[in-house]
Parts: sequence; C-alpha cells; structure tokens
Amino acid sequence: MPSQRVEISDVAVSPDHFIGGRRVTSELTFEVRSPLDWDWKLADVARGDALTADLAVSAAVKAFDGWSSLSAEERARFLHRLADLIDDNIDDLAVVECVDMAMLLESLQKRVIHRGAENLRNYADLAAGHEPRRWSSKGTDNVVQRMPAGPAVIITPWNAPWLLSTWKVAPALAAGNTVILKPAEWAPLSGSLLADLAAEAGFPPGVLNIVQGMGDEVGAALVADQRVRRISFTGSPETARHIGVSAARNIVPFTAELGGKGPFIVFADSDLDAAAKKAAGQYDDSGQVCLAGTRLLVEESVSDEFVGLFDKHTDAHVLGDSRNPSTTISPLIHPDHLARVEGFVDRAREAGETIMRGGDRWRQDGLWYEPTLIRPRHNDAEVVQREIFGPVLTYQTFSTEDEAISLANSTRYGLSGIVYTGSRERAERVGSSVRAGTVWVNTFLVRDLTAPFGGCRMSGIGREGGDYALDFHSDLKTVQISQGSVD
Ligand code: ADP
Repeated sequence: MPSQRVEISDVAVSPDHFIGGRRVTSELTFEVRSPLDWDWKLADVARGDALTADLAVSAAVKAFDGWSSLSAEERARFLHRLADLIDDNIDDLAVVECVDMAMLLESLQKRVIHRGAENLRNYADLAAGHEPRRWSSKGTDNVVQRMPAGPAVIITPWNAPWLLSTWKVAPALAAGNTVILKPAEWAPLSGSLLADLAAEAGFPPGVLNIVQGMGDEVGAALVADQRVRRISFTGSPETARHIGVSAARNIVPFTAELGGKGPFIVFADSDLDAAAKKAAGQYDDSGQVCLAGTRLLVEESVSDEFVGLFDKHTDAHVLGDSRNPSTTISPLIHPDHLARVEGFVDRAREAGETIMRGGDRWRQDGLWYEPTLIRPRHNDAEVVQREIFGPVLTYQTFSTEDEAISLANSTRYGLSGIVYTGSRERAERVGSSVRAGTVWVNTFLVRDLTAPFGGCRMSGIGREGGDYALDFHSDLKTVQISQGSVD
C-alpha cells in the first residue's frame, strides 16, 4: 500500500519510492524540513534499504531489454513527452523545489525547471541524430555503434536536485539504459515529482525508478549491485571514494563531479564594474554552487577600486524568503550545513585572517549566513584551500599574469574558473592555463549543453554533456565486414 501523498504548497507529493512503475513504501522514513522555516516539516519520506535497492535494480534489469531494443527515435518520443509535461508543470515543480531546498522561486520558474525539459530534448535529439562512424580499411567496412550499457545508477546532491537529476537521467535514458535515481536526502521531493511525470509520459515500468533514502544505506547498496553497469555521481570526494571502490569491484565505469574552489581572476584591463557585479553574484544560491568562483584574485593596481565596486554590488543583495521575488540570497539548506559554513569563518577569524565583510549569521532564527569576504594571510589558509559551499569568498591580489595563474592552480580542485580581461589574447592564454574543466571569460554559467562538463584533479573523473554523456552510457562496438563477402 503506498502512503498518502502529502500536500506541499498545494502540490500533492508522494513520499514513497517509485519502482517498476508503482509507488513502494519503506517501513522506515526520514524527516524532510524546509530551509525556509526549519519548524516546517514537509514530509516523512521513505527510507530505502538494501532490499529497496535490490527491488529497484531488479525492475531496471527487467525493463532493460525492452527499452534498449527500441530505436533512439522511439526513445526520443518518450523523452520529448516528459519534457513537454515538465514545461506544463513548471509552477508545481518550482514551488516544491523551492520549499525543499530554498533555491529562489523566480529563478526556478523562469529558468531552472525548464532547463530540465531542455536537457531531455537535447539528449533525445542528439541520440536520435547520431550517425554511426563508418569507414573502410584493410579490406573491411567498419561500423562503430553505440550499445546501451545496462541499468545505470544516478546519485545526485542537494544543491541542484532538479537540474542535476534531469541532466544525468536524460543521457542515460536516451542512450537506452534504464535508470535508478537516488536523490539527496536533504532535497528528495522534486525527484518524486519527476517519477509522476515519467508515469504520465507513459514510460514502461522499470525504465525510470526513483529510490529515496540515505546515501550510506540505500545509495551504497545500489552502487554495490553487480547488475548495475554505469554510475553517475555528483557529490563529495569522500563519497566518490566509496563509490569508486564499489565500481572497481564490479568493473563499472563511473563519472564523479566533486565540487571545486574556482578562481575568479580580475585583470586591470577588464570592465571592472562588470567583473565586480559578477563576483558579487557568486553569493547567489548562498554560494551552494560547485561552479562558483569563490577565490577572488584581483590585479593589485585596481584592488581598491574593485573592492569598492564589489561592496556596492554585494550591498544590493537581499537576504530573505526564497519565495519573495525581491530576495537574492536564500537560506542555507540545513542547520548542519550552516554550522559547517560558520565553522570555516570562525576558524579563519581565530587564525588571524581578515574578515573584510560579513562573518556572521544574518538572523539567529533562520539558516541565512551573511555574504562574507575573507582576506587570508597566506595561500595555504583553510578558507582558500577547502570548498566551503556557502556565501564565503576569499580575496587575494596579484601583480603579474604568471602569479595569477599560479594562484589559480594552487588548490587540489579543478572544476571551473572565471577570468575577466579586456584582452582577447590574454583571454585565450589564461583560459588555457587555468587547470579546470570549464573556464568562463567575461561571463559565468553560460553553458552549451553539448560541451563537455566535468572536473580535473579532486574535482572529479569523466565528462558529461552532449556526446560525452551518451558515449559514457554506451558500450562502443566495432563491426567489421569483409568487403565483397556480402551483397
Ligand atoms: P554533499 O556533501 O553534497 O552532501 P555527499 O557526497 O554526502 O555530498 O552526497 C551526495 C549524494 O551521495 C547524496 O545523494 C547522498 O545520499 C549520496 N551518498 C552519500 N554516501 C553515499 C554512499 N556511500 N554510497 C552512495 N551514495 C552515497
């Protein structure tokens, strides 16, 4: 018997898993509360275990033959139907995601939810339009084909649950794999709505399964299952190590995107006001963004001017309820996370780093933290080297381009970088010298869905995006036919 749906801001949300096309309960549940008001309990959500994982993988295995033997065009029709349903339900999806994890409602309504539909359409069309590579050599005709790999486990984090779930689910389904999605336990609700829409779009049972619960319980059981043939993960390096061990045991390829500590480099020849405005924008979503440029590196000669402009733009931020259109900075996801962010700043203060602005909770009765800027005494400072994942930026200056690049590349991460300069030559030179999967010059977060996406070093393994994700979810095969042996 499935549980009752719960009403969340007038949207009925199932707290159960979705396995084999139906809702499945668990004996145990976990509480989900709203970061907008921690006294507001949203739901008791099913807490999956090893049996739940087994059931979900079995459903995905059962559905695999049928789904993988459809043509890419046939699968694309399902993905397009789901995309259309997402666009029809933007308001419901947006409000649930907003109260579940506090992303700004307006940005969810205007951009983020629709991006989920775009992800599905993009991969549906890419997979359907894919031409096998054909050539002749050594008396044979060669054809390189993509074979669907098998059931895929997708594990997503809490900071962009909808965006990342759809970004990862879309290529897996388009490539012909069946999917078990495990959303993060701090923000599981939009995943449940995705299941409803997949059912409404007519996906065959077991093609898309959603399993709720704790990472080290149901998540660990999913990635350890030998029948799983791909794992796509976004989260922390610590969890990636656990997943990597399971993947190694089962000889399963996995991608892992593990956050960053992106440099935000400002050269004196740039449009300083535009750079300062974008730098103040790194506080958006309360800094809970893996791609954010959290280390401001500014050319010494324009430092005072830049700080003045940065302060002006940061002063314009409005902390508040994410449902309010004037709010630009939302609360952090969870009291434990707030305490973690606070710990970084408190330790920096104790270590003698200069708190240039912020450095405290905004209110004692909520989960907001002030936009904070810290000038470290040296580059080895904890706040420079470790990902904080809150509204906390560091400020350092440089005198030469080489020094800027050396500071930019001085952490163990390598996910993204941002560069502001007025010189095209410098843009290309510095762009190619920063060690990161993505470097933006004079812009931020503009992404072509077909471009590769992923991190270097501790920021991760593998690339997603466009054909990279479709190749990841496929086993490539070469068929060689002897020329003249067939009509
Ligand atoms: P974050 O620090 O962003 O919360 P985590 O790596 O802890 O990152 O969590 C990201 C996702 O990984 C969540 O969905 C979480 O439940 C899941 N997870 C955590 N531990 C494990 C594990 N041992 N095996 C599989 N998934 C896990």
